[in-house]
Amino acid sequence: MILIIFILGLVIGSFLNVVIYRVPEGKSIIKPPSHCLECDHRLSPIELIPVISYIVLKGKCSSCDTKISLRYPAVELVTGIVFVINYLQLYYNIMNLIAGLILSSILIVLTLIDYDHQILPDSITIGGLFVGLILSIFRPDITVFNAILGLLVAGGFLLIIAYASKGGLGGGDIKLMAMVGTFLGPLSAFAAIFIGALLGLLASLPGILSGELSRKSKLPFGPFLAGASLIFWFWGDYLWEFYLSIFI
Ligand SMILES: [Zn+2]
Repeated sequence: MILIIFILGLVIGSFLNVVIYRVPEGKSIIKPPSHCLECDHRLSPIELIPVISYIVLKGKCSSCDTKISLRYPAVELVTGIVFVINYLQLYYNIMNLIAGLILSSILIVLTLIDYDHQILPDSITIGGLFVGLILSIFRPDITVFNAILGLLVAGGFLLIIAYASKGGLGGGDIKLMAMVGTFLGPLSAFAAIFIGALLGLLASLPGILSGELSRKSKLPFGPFLAGASLIFWFWGDYLWEFYLSIFI
Protein backbone atom coordinates (compact mmCIF):
# COMPACT_ATOMS: atom_id res chain seq x y z
CA MET A 1 0.00 0.00 0.00
CA ILE A 2 2.83 2.41 0.84
CA LEU A 3 4.28 1.85 -2.63
CA ILE A 4 0.91 2.60 -4.28
CA ILE A 5 0.61 5.85 -2.28
CA PHE A 6 4.18 6.76 -3.21
CA ILE A 7 3.52 6.20 -6.93
CA LEU A 8 0.27 8.18 -6.64
CA GLY A 9 2.34 10.98 -5.11
CA LEU A 10 4.81 10.89 -8.01
CA VAL A 11 1.99 11.12 -10.55
CA ILE A 12 0.22 13.93 -8.67
CA GLY A 13 3.62 15.65 -8.27
CA SER A 14 3.98 15.59 -12.04
CA PHE A 15 0.60 17.32 -12.32
CA LEU A 16 1.62 19.84 -9.62
CA ASN A 17 4.60 20.80 -11.80
CA VAL A 18 2.14 21.78 -14.52
CA VAL A 19 0.02 23.77 -12.05
CA ILE A 20 3.10 25.56 -10.63
CA TYR A 21 4.21 26.57 -14.08
CA ARG A 22 0.89 27.45 -15.70
CA VAL A 23 -1.39 28.98 -13.05
CA PRO A 24 0.71 32.15 -12.47
CA GLU A 25 0.84 32.66 -16.25
CA GLY A 26 -2.92 32.38 -16.48
CA LYS A 27 -2.71 29.32 -18.72
CA SER A 28 -5.02 26.30 -18.73
CA ILE A 29 -3.72 23.38 -16.67
CA ILE A 30 -5.38 20.85 -18.99
CA LYS A 31 -4.58 22.14 -22.48
CA PRO A 32 -2.22 21.91 -24.24
CA PRO A 33 -0.72 18.56 -23.21
CA SER A 34 2.75 18.63 -21.63
CA HIS A 35 5.39 19.73 -24.08
CA CYS A 36 8.99 20.89 -24.16
CA LEU A 37 9.10 24.63 -23.43
CA GLU A 38 11.94 25.10 -25.89
CA CYS A 39 10.93 23.16 -29.01
CA ASP A 40 7.25 22.37 -28.34
CA HIS A 41 8.00 18.65 -28.66
CA ARG A 42 4.98 16.89 -27.18
CA LEU A 43 5.92 14.44 -24.44
CA SER A 44 5.38 10.77 -25.29
CA PRO A 45 3.74 8.45 -22.71
CA ILE A 46 7.18 7.21 -21.61
CA GLU A 47 8.44 10.76 -21.19
CA LEU A 48 5.48 11.49 -18.91
CA ILE A 49 6.51 8.89 -16.33
CA PRO A 50 7.61 10.84 -13.23
CA VAL A 51 11.27 10.73 -12.13
CA ILE A 52 12.07 7.64 -14.27
CA SER A 53 11.75 9.60 -17.52
CA TYR A 54 14.15 12.22 -16.18
CA ILE A 55 16.73 9.52 -15.48
CA VAL A 56 16.15 7.75 -18.83
CA LEU A 57 16.40 11.03 -20.77
CA LYS A 58 19.44 12.04 -18.67
CA GLY A 59 17.71 15.34 -17.89
CA LYS A 60 17.37 16.46 -21.51
CA CYS A 61 14.51 16.92 -23.99
CA SER A 62 14.56 13.93 -26.39
CA SER A 63 13.93 16.22 -29.34
CA CYS A 64 16.10 19.32 -28.86
CA ASP A 65 18.48 18.29 -26.04
CA THR A 66 17.47 21.27 -23.90
CA LYS A 67 18.25 20.60 -20.25
CA ILE A 68 15.19 19.79 -18.11
CA SER A 69 15.25 21.46 -14.69
CA LEU A 70 16.08 19.11 -11.83
CA ARG A 71 13.15 20.74 -10.06
CA TYR A 72 10.59 18.67 -11.96
CA PRO A 73 11.70 15.27 -10.62
CA ALA A 74 12.44 16.92 -7.22
CA VAL A 75 8.83 18.13 -6.90
CA GLU A 76 7.59 14.67 -7.92
CA LEU A 77 9.80 12.97 -5.33
CA VAL A 78 8.86 15.38 -2.54
CA THR A 79 5.16 14.93 -3.33
CA GLY A 80 5.62 11.14 -3.23
CA ILE A 81 7.36 11.32 0.16
CA VAL A 82 4.81 13.75 1.63
CA PHE A 83 1.98 11.49 0.42
CA VAL A 84 3.60 8.52 2.21
CA ILE A 85 3.92 10.53 5.46
CA ASN A 86 0.22 11.42 5.15
CA TYR A 87 -0.62 7.76 4.74
CA LEU A 88 1.48 6.68 7.73
CA GLN A 89 -0.12 9.36 9.93
CA LEU A 90 -3.72 9.22 8.69
CA TYR A 91 -4.34 5.71 7.35
CA TYR A 92 -7.02 5.24 10.06
CA ASN A 93 -9.48 7.53 8.31
CA ILE A 94 -9.97 7.95 4.59
CA MET A 95 -11.44 11.48 4.79
CA ASN A 96 -8.53 12.76 6.89
CA LEU A 97 -6.14 11.10 4.47
CA ILE A 98 -7.83 12.76 1.47
CA ALA A 99 -7.74 16.11 3.30
CA GLY A 100 -4.02 15.58 3.97
CA LEU A 101 -3.20 14.75 0.36
CA ILE A 102 -5.11 17.81 -0.87
CA LEU A 103 -3.60 20.17 1.73
CA SER A 104 -0.08 18.89 1.03
CA SER A 105 -0.54 19.33 -2.73
CA ILE A 106 -1.85 22.88 -2.25
CA LEU A 107 1.05 23.80 0.06
CA ILE A 108 3.69 22.39 -2.32
CA VAL A 109 2.19 24.35 -5.22
CA LEU A 110 1.90 27.60 -3.25
CA THR A 111 5.45 27.31 -1.89
CA LEU A 112 6.97 27.12 -5.36
CA ILE A 113 4.68 29.71 -6.97
CA ASP A 114 5.49 32.13 -4.12
CA TYR A 115 9.19 31.37 -4.53
CA ASP A 116 9.05 31.99 -8.30
CA HIS A 117 6.68 34.95 -8.52
CA GLN A 118 6.17 36.26 -4.94
CA ILE A 119 2.43 35.73 -5.31
CA LEU A 120 -0.09 33.31 -3.83
CA PRO A 121 -2.91 33.00 -6.40
CA ASP A 122 -6.44 33.48 -5.06
CA SER A 123 -7.70 30.61 -7.19
CA ILE A 124 -5.61 28.25 -5.05
CA THR A 125 -5.83 29.87 -1.59
CA ILE A 126 -9.54 30.77 -1.73
CA GLY A 127 -10.34 27.57 -3.65
CA GLY A 128 -8.50 25.53 -1.01
CA LEU A 129 -10.36 27.37 1.72
CA PHE A 130 -13.70 26.14 0.38
CA VAL A 131 -12.34 22.61 -0.07
CA GLY A 132 -11.16 22.68 3.56
CA LEU A 133 -14.59 23.80 4.78
CA ILE A 134 -16.42 21.12 2.78
CA LEU A 135 -14.01 18.39 3.94
CA SER A 136 -14.51 19.40 7.58
CA ILE A 137 -18.11 18.16 7.28
CA PHE A 138 -16.84 14.62 6.69
CA ARG A 139 -13.65 14.57 8.78
CA PRO A 140 -13.66 13.04 12.27
CA ASP A 141 -10.63 15.10 13.39
CA ILE A 142 -12.25 18.52 13.06
CA THR A 143 -15.75 19.97 13.39
CA VAL A 144 -17.21 22.43 10.90
CA PHE A 145 -17.28 24.94 13.74
CA ASN A 146 -13.55 24.52 14.36
CA ALA A 147 -12.78 24.80 10.65
CA ILE A 148 -14.63 28.12 10.47
CA LEU A 149 -12.98 29.22 13.72
CA GLY A 150 -9.60 28.27 12.24
CA LEU A 151 -10.34 30.41 9.19
CA LEU A 152 -11.35 33.41 11.31
CA VAL A 153 -8.57 33.13 13.91
CA ALA A 154 -5.68 32.57 11.48
CA GLY A 155 -6.97 34.95 8.80
CA GLY A 156 -8.09 37.57 11.33
CA PHE A 157 -4.82 37.51 13.26
CA LEU A 158 -2.75 38.03 10.11
CA LEU A 159 -5.16 40.74 8.93
CA ILE A 160 -4.45 42.66 12.14
CA ILE A 161 -0.69 42.13 11.72
CA ALA A 162 -0.92 43.34 8.12
CA TYR A 163 -2.67 46.53 9.21
CA ALA A 164 -0.27 47.07 12.12
CA SER A 165 2.82 46.53 9.97
CA LYS A 166 1.43 48.70 7.15
CA GLY A 167 2.01 46.27 4.31
CA GLY A 168 4.88 44.16 5.66
CA LEU A 169 2.64 41.17 5.08
CA GLY A 170 0.96 40.32 1.78
CA GLY A 171 -2.75 39.68 1.34
CA GLY A 172 -1.82 36.28 -0.09
CA ASP A 173 -0.27 35.25 3.24
CA ILE A 174 -3.54 36.11 5.01
CA LYS A 175 -5.61 33.99 2.60
CA LEU A 176 -3.03 31.19 2.78
CA MET A 177 -3.36 30.89 6.55
CA ALA A 178 -7.15 31.34 6.50
CA MET A 179 -7.16 28.35 4.13
CA VAL A 180 -4.80 26.39 6.41
CA GLY A 181 -7.11 27.24 9.34
CA THR A 182 -9.98 25.33 7.73
CA PHE A 183 -7.78 22.20 7.68
CA LEU A 184 -5.87 22.57 10.98
CA GLY A 185 -8.36 24.36 13.20
CA PRO A 186 -7.58 27.50 15.23
CA LEU A 187 -4.89 26.22 17.66
CA SER A 188 -2.56 24.52 15.20
CA ALA A 189 -3.05 27.18 12.53
CA PHE A 190 -2.16 29.85 15.07
CA ALA A 191 0.93 27.90 16.14
CA ALA A 192 1.90 27.39 12.49
CA ILE A 193 1.79 31.17 11.95
CA PHE A 194 4.22 31.71 14.82
CA ILE A 195 6.65 28.98 13.80
CA GLY A 196 6.40 29.99 10.12
CA ALA A 197 7.02 33.66 10.87
CA LEU A 198 9.93 32.73 13.15
CA LEU A 199 11.53 30.55 10.46
CA GLY A 200 10.95 33.29 7.88
CA LEU A 201 12.62 35.89 10.08
CA LEU A 202 15.56 33.60 10.87
CA ALA A 203 16.05 32.89 7.17
CA SER A 204 15.99 36.58 6.25
CA LEU A 205 18.22 37.61 9.16
CA PRO A 206 21.46 37.42 7.15
CA GLY A 207 19.86 39.61 4.47
CA ILE A 208 18.61 42.11 7.03
CA LEU A 209 21.94 42.26 8.89
CA SER A 210 23.93 42.71 5.68
CA GLY A 211 21.55 45.43 4.59
CA GLU A 212 20.42 43.61 1.45
CA LEU A 213 16.90 43.40 2.78
CA SER A 214 15.68 46.73 4.11
CA ARG A 215 13.04 47.00 6.82
CA LYS A 216 10.64 47.98 4.08
CA SER A 217 11.06 44.93 1.85
CA LYS A 218 8.35 42.32 1.93
CA LEU A 219 9.64 39.18 3.61
CA PRO A 220 8.95 35.93 1.72
CA PHE A 221 6.81 34.35 4.41
CA GLY A 222 4.71 32.14 2.11
CA PRO A 223 7.06 29.14 1.87
CA PHE A 224 7.78 29.24 5.62
CA LEU A 225 4.11 29.50 6.57
CA ALA A 226 3.35 26.62 4.20
CA GLY A 227 6.18 24.49 5.65
CA ALA A 228 5.17 25.18 9.25
CA SER A 229 1.54 24.38 8.38
CA LEU A 230 2.55 21.00 6.99
CA ILE A 231 4.64 20.26 10.10
CA PHE A 232 1.66 21.04 12.34
CA TRP A 233 -0.66 19.05 10.10
CA PHE A 234 1.54 15.97 10.61
CA TRP A 235 2.89 16.41 14.13
CA GLY A 236 0.73 19.11 15.73
CA ASP A 237 -0.44 16.81 18.53
CA TYR A 238 3.11 15.84 19.52
CA LEU A 239 4.28 19.44 19.33
CA TRP A 240 1.45 20.61 21.60
CA GLU A 241 2.17 17.82 24.09
CA PHE A 242 5.85 18.72 24.05
CA TYR A 243 5.07 22.41 24.47
CA LEU A 244 2.67 21.82 27.37
CA SER A 245 5.07 19.38 29.03
CA ILE A 246 7.62 22.19 29.35
CA PHE A 247 5.23 24.20 31.47
CA ILE A 248 3.35 21.54 33.39
ZN1 LIG B 1 12.72 20.21 -26.67
